[in-house]
Amino acid sequence: MKDPNLPRLVFWELTKKCNLACAHCRAEAEDIDYSGELGQNDIQRTIDDIASLADPILVLTGGEPLYRKDVFKIATYANKKGLRVALATNGTLIDKKIARKIKDAGIARVSISIDGKDAQSHDPFRGIPGSFDAAIRGSKLLMDEGVEFQFNTTITKRNIDMVDDILALAETSGACALHFFMLVPVGCGVEIAETDMLSPEKYEETLHWFYNRSKETSLEFKATCAPHYYRVIREEAHKENRKINFEQDGMAAMTKGCLAGSGVCFISHRGDIQPCGYLPLVAGNVLEKSFTDIWKDSDLFKSLRDVNQLKGKCGICEYNRVCGGCRARSYHAKDDYLEEEPFCIYQPKRN
Ligand code: SF4
Ligand code: SF4
Repeated sequence: MKDPNLPRLVFWELTKKCNLACAHCRAEAEDIDYSGELGQNDIQRTIDDIASLADPILVLTGGEPLYRKDVFKIATYANKKGLRVALATNGTLIDKKIARKIKDAGIARVSISIDGKDAQSHDPFRGIPGSFDAAIRGSKLLMDEGVEFQFNTTITKRNIDMVDDILALAETSGACALHFFMLVPVGCGVEIAETDMLSPEKYEETLHWFYNRSKETSLEFKATCAPHYYRVIREEAHKENRKINFEQDGMAAMTKGCLAGSGVCFISHRGDIQPCGYLPLVAGNVLEKSFTDIWKDSDLFKSLRDVNQLKGKCGICEYNRVCGGCRARSYHAKDDYLEEEPFCIYQPKRN
């Protein structure tokens, strides 16, 4: 039987340097050079190791990954090793030449961060005037090259009233997908959590809105880092007197809400391996141990794979095998990543 805990998505922060100054940045990235970033040899050795263990999607991220001069060399190498490579960028540095290089490096999909319906709403969030127009221009250049792109939107109080407009923007811009992220209070997100995070009740309402819209749009429409969406779709399907299934519900029927440490991990610019980019706990460093050994042997990862270790209402919840709660939000709220998810209003029926 195939190991159920193989990596499916590896997010790799190639550099922490970034040209924007986003209000919610996980990495608190600045436009400066950071010391200790991994070099080509260590990166290629780690890619070899990842490819020998599994065939996850490798998401090259940052900071702003296009700041890294060897990003296309890394993407080409990973491709040759059989990994599907994606690029997560703010989109502003994509010109015609870069769009062509993205294509030539075999990058399968680019995600571009769009946090508002227009420049007036997006730019203040991203901290730099002109970033909306530059990101949209970047997406058009990708389309010209035939490179698939999606929009990623972080949902906060600032843009919750324009989610339908952002969906319409994604549909008319030629994006193949729109992924909504629910804000996680990490990095700069800690500072804005008090003022910008949706209340648990609004969060719940948004997930039900999301379910309804997902039935109408032709886009791949995904709620990311919103694990209790996996409960919500089951509740909605129950109301419709049906079982959830791949044909109607897509990947949400096949996978689990939070995959941190069980199907997902994050490699920092210095080689630290974390369960995800929002959970600042380190399982090991690729300069000291192989990716495979860290993935298989880390006690941190083992605990995240064991649903019986969940505490509070997540521990007794009948949905915990499909949801699991956001471990990063629990860590932020209670200093314990196994505690109950603070942004879920559900009361488990088991006790
Ligand atoms: S802990 Fe899970 S749900 Fe939370 S941010 Fe990380 S991957 Fe997403
Ligand atoms: S109580 Fe925890 S496991 Fe249950 S639905 Fe809420 S977040 Fe998910």
